[in-house]
Amino acid sequence: MHAEVIAIGDELTSGQRLDTNSRWLAAELGVLGVPVTRHTTVPDTLEAGIEAFRMAAQRTPLIVVTGGLGPTADDLTRDVLAAVAGVPLDLSAEALATVESRFSGRGMPMPESNARQAVFPRGSRIIPNPVGTAPGIDVDLPHAGGTCRVFALPGVPSEMRTMWTGTVAAAILATLPERATILQRRIKCFGAGESAIEAMLPDIIRRGRDPLVGITAHEATITLRIVARGGSDAECLAKMEPTQRLIRECLGPIAYGIEDDEIEDAVLAVVAAAGGTLASVESGTAGRAAALLAAAASRRLPGPGVYLGGRVLPRLSGDPAAAARRIRDEVGATVGLAVGDERPAAEGRRALDIAVADAAGVAVVEHVIGGGPDLAASRAAKTAVNLVRLRSQAAGGAA
Ligand code: ATP
Repeated sequence: MHAEVIAIGDELTSGQRLDTNSRWLAAELGVLGVPVTRHTTVPDTLEAGIEAFRMAAQRTPLIVVTGGLGPTADDLTRDVLAAVAGVPLDLSAEALATVESRFSGRGMPMPESNARQAVFPRGSRIIPNPVGTAPGIDVDLPHAGGTCRVFALPGVPSEMRTMWTGTVAAAILATLPERATILQRRIKCFGAGESAIEAMLPDIIRRGRDPLVGITAHEATITLRIVARGGSDAECLAKMEPTQRLIRECLGPIAYGIEDDEIEDAVLAVVAAAGGTLASVESGTAGRAAALLAAAASRRLPGPGVYLGGRVLPRLSGDPAAAARRIRDEVGATVGLAVGDERPAAEGRRALDIAVADAAGVAVVEHVIGGGPDLAASRAAKTAVNLVRLRSQAAGGAA
């Protein structure tokens, strides 16, 4: 089984908007074990849409399409699907009631044009949209020797994702010839780049491996995604276990957490596990380290605060080692973190110094700034907070 993804919209073909839906859907289909063999992007015209679906339906048994389900005259996905299926469009009383209730719930009359969103190709199934007005369409198109199942979803990314997760993914899984359980685990890493991490691992990031391992990077955090297929959850978990262990052995402290954990969550967890508290002062990272830590503190369960707060200064007075000791003493924290001013470094680069003070003394590390402006700032702040974790762990948790 393989699939194609179609994105509909003038704003996509004209380059006004990037087609992020297709990328997201292709990755999700991959997780279900359905490879995507082609992406097509077409403008809001009947001819382009009809041609795209006719051709795709000849090649593939499954199409996921986004866009063109809105109420305006240029939203033509339902007309295109009816034309290719060779069926008329019918008004669904059930869908009309749902669209109307969306408006009445907000105390507004439904505009006449929105009735279009309750019209479906005959024989199709309605995909509920819990977060918007446009329901999706689940319809069969003629396909060589069978049917091509089409799932049409709205273009608005948040609506598309909610409907995928709530309805479409399960419907696709149910059609797969081999009913399989699919489980995935994400291992979060910080402290080395994507290619460096790949080089530290044996050859596990390759196509066809079972379980599959993928790698992605976002703001200097690297995610390793392990995807296992099996007859049951227990089988999937058993399959994933040796791969997880291998990754942890190879990466050591670089692998800091799982799933949605951010590096700052892991930092506060380590400080809290040692019964400690943390305070920070920073100049070169302009408050980003404090923002990360404050957000992580608010995600923690209610209880005594581990992060006692941060001070943001245009310049540190004195060197970062002294500043880390000072903030620790002033606030009465067990750990003080200081990030110094940005300064010139070797080979024409820029750097800043990060210091962590605790009962055992002070550690100072030079961080050379690199990457584009956004990535560089995010990496510097994460590197700073991560130093707290690395030092606490090296001291055996004695913060
Ligand atoms: P609705 O009418 O409910 O907004 P729709 O199905 O008519 O949904 P479109 O009008 O095609 O969707 O797109 C709505 C918005 O969703 C677009 O303006 C754009 O912001 C975004 N969008 C559409 N397609 C994509 C895509 N492929 N990738 C990312 N964003 C998209």
